Amino acid sequence: MTIKDLTGLVEKYNPEYIPDILNAYELADNAHHGQLRQSGEPYIIHPLNVAYTLAEMHADKDTVIAGLLHDVVEDSHYSTYDIERLFGKEVAKLVDGVTKLSRMQFNSKKEENSANTRKIITSITDDVRIIIVKLADRLHNMRTLQYKKKDKQIENAFETLDIFVPLANHIGAYRIKTELEDLSFKYLKPSAYQSIEEELEKIKKESDACLKEILFNINGLLTAEEIPHEIKTRTKNLYGIYKDKINNSKMLDIHDLFTLKVMVDDIKNCYITMMLVHSVYRPLNSELKDYIANSKKNLYRSLHTTVFGPDGRLVQTQIRTFEMDKIASFGLTAYWDINGMSAREKMQKDLKKDFIKSINYIDSTFDDNGEFVTQVTNELFKDTINVYTSKGDIIELPKGATPIDFAYKIHTKIGENISGVLINDVLSNITTPLKDDDRVIILTDGEKMTPTADWLNHTKTTKAKRKIKDYNKRRLTE
Ligand code: MN
Repeated sequence: MTIKDLTGLVEKYNPEYIPDILNAYELADNAHHGQLRQSGEPYIIHPLNVAYTLAEMHADKDTVIAGLLHDVVEDSHYSTYDIERLFGKEVAKLVDGVTKLSRMQFNSKKEENSANTRKIITSITDDVRIIIVKLADRLHNMRTLQYKKKDKQIENAFETLDIFVPLANHIGAYRIKTELEDLSFKYLKPSAYQSIEEELEKIKKESDACLKEILFNINGLLTAEEIPHEIKTRTKNLYGIYKDKINNSKMLDIHDLFTLKVMVDDIKNCYITMMLVHSVYRPLNSELKDYIANSKKNLYRSLHTTVFGPDGRLVQTQIRTFEMDKIASFGLTAYWDINGMSAREKMQKDLKKDFIKSINYIDSTFDDNGEFVTQVTNELFKDTINVYTSKGDIIELPKGATPIDFAYKIHTKIGENISGVLINDVLSNITTPLKDDDRVIILTDGEKMTPTADWLNHTKTTKAKRKIKDYNKRRLTE
């Protein structure tokens, strides 16, 4: 990795960034002069790799520069003030944010680790780009983890899986997320990693002819219709397979083990492509998803349809435009690159309304660092579900959440005035755990229920719990 590799990559998406990037490189090279990494390589290799990942993500100039400079304040005589003077306030803010995070030493004391984790998570509320630089930093450190001591490897792998993977998922950076998952998995469960890797290789060989046939056929259909396209095959990442295999015994039964990514020029052609695919291969109806009309919270958009291929072998197809594909790999940064900087402010605002608001709720409710981390993990980082409001808006909730959580998420007043709930048009109990794609309508016209302390046993979200407690305190003092 050299500065030429970095500028070559930047050249392709925004050549105007190059002069400032060269200046930042010069400063970083100078600051880290004589320092070595544990691998024995010159230290500058590390910030170069971090900046390279950020450029692959099509990050804005300040973020790529912050990647080059992210360890300068920590490891040299340069200060945040120097960086501000040379590269401006924004870069200084990002470097300062990352520096504060790297000052935390991960160690075996649980309480200190929780305090560190809390800092990482709450830093996203200042500027989400701090986390993006930190993710690129973590990715390179995980790629070179073999040079660390065994106990460090395990600690880093756990921390990556618990904190950085969910954060990568939240910003929609799937490529980073899956690579971090597999790198952590390799260190945490080496034998499971190896056996899945071997089994997958075998199945891949057996499935090769089938995948080629489908690819050939879809290619033919699209060419005949003169739809500009590109098709790639993708195999599910090893950690993803490992998680599915815990529930599902056979690897071949995983519905998205093999995916054909079909990229076309526009949205209309996405739907035409799906129709063409279904004209030849029948879909598994339950795995047909329209994330174009209903995009995910992390900006992911695509049509998904799993079809029965030759020999009844399941193959998932993901159909999207070329732009959607860029966003699918790298999330926020790619979205900003495509939609301009005003999109960045809008996104930061959208995050504030939802994800960041939830973090702030949890932050202000739990003084204890351990409890804070547990709550964030359960509420925001573990599997979430998406349900619909009566108007079709999508609300994200933690798995196991009930209509009570849903009502409070919409508005505290709704939570305090529930008289009943319809789930998919059926009158239901307000303590029923919700499922993905449920349509939830809170009734408030009838006799209202009292938010009793028992409701706390049937809620997952901090906001609902806190509002129920507040209500009961008020009731006692009235
Ligand atoms: Mn670093």
